Amino acid sequence: RLVLGIETSCDDTGAAVLDETGLILGESLHSQKDVHLKTGGIIPVVAQRLHKENIARVVQEALDKSGIAPRDLSAVATTVKPGLALSLGIGLEYSLNFIQRHKMSFIPIHHMEAHALTVRMNQPVPFPFLVLLISGGHCLLAVARDIDDFLLLGKALDEAPGDTLDKVARRLSLVKHPKCSTLSGGQAIELLAREGITDDKQKEEEEGIQKGEILSCVNDIAAAAQHTVASHIARRTHRAILFCKARGLLPQSRPSLVVSGGVACNNYIRKTLQIVTEATELDLLCPPAKLCTDNGVMIAWNGVEKLREGKGIVTHVAHIRYEPKAPLGTDITGQVKEAA
Ligand code: ATP
Ligand code: FE
Repeated sequence: RLVLGIETSCDDTGAAVLDETGLILGESLHSQKDVHLKTGGIIPVVAQRLHKENIARVVQEALDKSGIAPRDLSAVATTVKPGLALSLGIGLEYSLNFIQRHKMSFIPIHHMEAHALTVRMNQPVPFPFLVLLISGGHCLLAVARDIDDFLLLGKALDEAPGDTLDKVARRLSLVKHPKCSTLSGGQAIELLAREGITDDKQKEEEEGIQKGEILSCVNDIAAAAQHTVASHIARRTHRAILFCKARGLLPQSRPSLVVSGGVACNNYIRKTLQIVTEATELDLLCPPAKLCTDNGVMIAWNGVEKLREGKGIVTHVAHIRYEPKAPLGTDITGQVKEAA
C-alpha cells in the first residue's frame, strides 16, 4: 500500500510517496523561503500564490521519482490543520480534486502530529513518549500516547522559538550578511552564534574577553539569543520530565524525549537538551534535520501510520474543511500549572 503525502500549511510546498514500511519512493519540496526573506516575513497571499504555482509540479515530481502511477496509490494524506488558511486551502483543494479524479481514500493530517511522529519512520519508538515540538509557529510539550492520542502538557504563552529567532535575525538584517543571505533566521543565528560569546574560559582569556563586557557584534547577539531560547526550552522540558515521572506518564525503562520541528535542527539546542536527558535518564531522539522542517515525507508517513491502523481515513470528503487553528491533543496545561 502506497501513500502520497501533501504539505502546504505554511511556506513549503511538499509532496512524497511512501510505501507501508516508510521507505521514501519519491519526494519533492519547493521552499518559498527566499521570497519571504526579501519581504521580511510571510505575506499570506504571496504564500498562497506560490503554492498554487508549484503544487502540481511538486506532486508530479514526487510521483515521477517514485515511478508510481496515481492509480497505484491507496490514499492521499494532506495537512488540513493548523496553518495559514490561504496556504492550507491550496493543498486541500488540490488533494480533493486528485482523489476524486483517481478514486482513492483521503487522510486529513494534523501538521504538529506529523512533526511528532516523524521519528518513527527510522526507529520504532514505542508509545508513550514525551515530545517537544519547537518550530516557527509552535512550542509544545506533550505525551504521545498513540498515533492519534496526545496529552498536551504545555505550550508557548507568547511566541514560538523559531519565530523569535527569525525576528532577531530580521532586526540584525542577517539576510544582508554575506554568510546568511539564503538561510532561515534560525539557521543564520546558529551559524553566527558559533563565533559569538562562549563560556569557554580559555578562549575568553586568549581573546581578552571580559565577563559582562558589552555585547559588541552580531555574533555575540546571535549567541546570546540562541542561548536564551535553549536554556528556557531546557528548563521547561526538565520540568515536564519530572512531571511525567511523578505521574507515571512514561515507561519505567528507557523513556524517550523526541524533539522535532524546524528549531530541532539546531545543534546547540540539541546539546542543551542532551544535558537534561542525561541527567534524567531519558533517550533523546530527533528525526534527521531535513525531516524536522516542513516536508511532504512526514505527512505521507503520518498517512501510512493511520492507514495501517485504519484510523482517520475519510471516504466521504464533502465535509472536510481546513482548520487554521487546531490544538494538539487533550490539553492539561491548567493542571500542569497547579502542579508546578
Ligand atoms: P509550525 O510547524 O509551527 O507550523 P513552520 O511549519 O513554519 O511552523 P518549521 O518548518 O517546522 O515551521 O520550522 C521553521 C522554523 O525553524 C523557522 O522559524 C526557522 O528559523 C527555524 N529553524 C530552522 N533551522 C534552524 C536552526 N538550525 N536553528 C534554529 N532554528 C531553525
Ligand atoms: Fe512545521
